[in-house]
Amino acid sequence: MTTQKVAIIGGGIMGVTLAYRLAQRGVSVTVYERGDNLGGLASYMLYDGVRMDRFYHTILSSDTSMQSLMEEGGVADKRHFTSTKQGFYDNGQLYDFNTPVDFMLFPPLNPIQRVRLALQVIAAQFESDWHKMDVVRVEDWLLRVSGEGAYRKVWKPLLRAKFDTTADSVPATYIWSRLRRMMGTRQGVTSKEMMCYLENGYYTLIEAIAKKCEAMGVKFHLKAPIEEIVIENGQAVGVRIGGQIERYDAVASTLASPILAGLIPNGDAAFRALLAKQQYLGVLCPLVILKERLLPYYVLNITDDRIPFTAVVETTNLIDPQHVKGYHLVYLPKYLAPDSGLANWSDEQVKSEWMKYFRQMFPKYDEKNIVEFVVQRAKYVEPIRPMGTLNEIPPIQTPIARLYMGNTVMIYPDLGNGEAVTRYATKVAEQMLADMPQWQGTAAVPAV
Ligand SMILES: Cc1cc2nc3c(=O)[nH]c(=O)nc-3n(C[C@H](O)[C@H](O)[C@H](O)COP(=O)(O)OP(=O)(O)OC[C@H]3O[C@@H](n4cnc5c(N)ncnc54)[C@H](O)[C@@H]3O)c2cc1C
Repeated sequence: MTTQKVAIIGGGIMGVTLAYRLAQRGVSVTVYERGDNLGGLASYMLYDGVRMDRFYHTILSSDTSMQSLMEEGGVADKRHFTSTKQGFYDNGQLYDFNTPVDFMLFPPLNPIQRVRLALQVIAAQFESDWHKMDVVRVEDWLLRVSGEGAYRKVWKPLLRAKFDTTADSVPATYIWSRLRRMMGTRQGVTSKEMMCYLENGYYTLIEAIAKKCEAMGVKFHLKAPIEEIVIENGQAVGVRIGGQIERYDAVASTLASPILAGLIPNGDAAFRALLAKQQYLGVLCPLVILKERLLPYYVLNITDDRIPFTAVVETTNLIDPQHVKGYHLVYLPKYLAPDSGLANWSDEQVKSEWMKYFRQMFPKYDEKNIVEFVVQRAKYVEPIRPMGTLNEIPPIQTPIARLYMGNTVMIYPDLGNGEAVTRYATKVAEQMLADMPQWQGTAAVPAV
């Protein structure tokens, strides 16, 4: 047991896991969350009494940190593994895109292009040094291995889907990481992808871990936006909320870097500048609630760049619809570059534009089955780490003594998903526990 008191800012999966890991080691923890409930990007909305993920979330069978948290939280019996299918929408047609056989028969590509596409997947499995991938532009790597045809038909639309207009500056690590993660969920050449969901959504895990935390004395404050991290003599000594200062031995921020920059007006100027310049993709992600199934796929990738959304994600091809009162849940995401004008669209504009293309894509789907169209959006979703900026990744122990941080900007080259976030939270906890006996001194500001 320690007598140290720590404030954690942010009650997303990072903040809750960090609280759990510190509380397990006897630290006195208080979590401040701005929203009405915990979960952040992984929180939920209620519809007809059913809890539905605000954004589509799945856990893979290879996500060992998430799987063990589910066991620790006592919710392993609420998880269900299913193999899912994905497809491609190209030129008005739907194509299966799952097994090596599908790759080999994928009609939009000719046989040579198909072989080169398969080589790309193999190349990612054989390359284990991410540093090599980090100095190659993603487009150059894909063009070199897959060739022009497969690049144009498959990779370019996928890059647009994931990075919007920022794809030019990102390194090959991003696709390399995805290919390795994707193949990690397959067993054998012909086996299907194994995904898992939790009954009542991803939040089931967050709720279970938060309950364990509370049993260990962790306090959670909801609707509790931190206004400032109080810094005295170069050291974090507490937080300001509702105009009042609450004092702690250390503060850990799990906020997106630009938000953290705004909370430390008295912090080191170079460090604030470093945080403020970190860029993120946002997301516009309507959830369409249906009475009847739309597609057989978990995800349908769209190659047509006139369509404003870049995929159709029907999570009830993973989730048993019985667990969501028989509804079918379809998400129509569009990731947004920081300067995208779409971020300013009203919900009505989004609905009208999205529905125009929904009708074009699925002319036979009876619209009477659409019971709700809810526009979900978030500003700080996927960090953009341009090539050559490894030295801009902030340190866990910030240059401000006793101020720690953990967010998805720091998770590289892994992807910023629940698996990587929960692993990283454990890493932050370990560093804090190791520093606890001295809790002084500062880290160097990374070179900008
Ligand atoms: C469309 C989409 C699909 C995704 N799909 C998957 C998936 O399939 N599988 C997967 O594992 N992951 C997925 N993710 C990623 C996953 O949601 C994130 O990795 C994870 O939720 C990030 O958690 P976090 O705690 O780091 O950040 P956040 O969830 O952003 O948490 C930060 C918290 O800080 C709070 N906060 C902000 N400012 C303040 C303040 N001043 N005071 C107090 N609190 C504050 C926010 O309200 C928020 O709750 C997806 C994300 C999106 C958007």
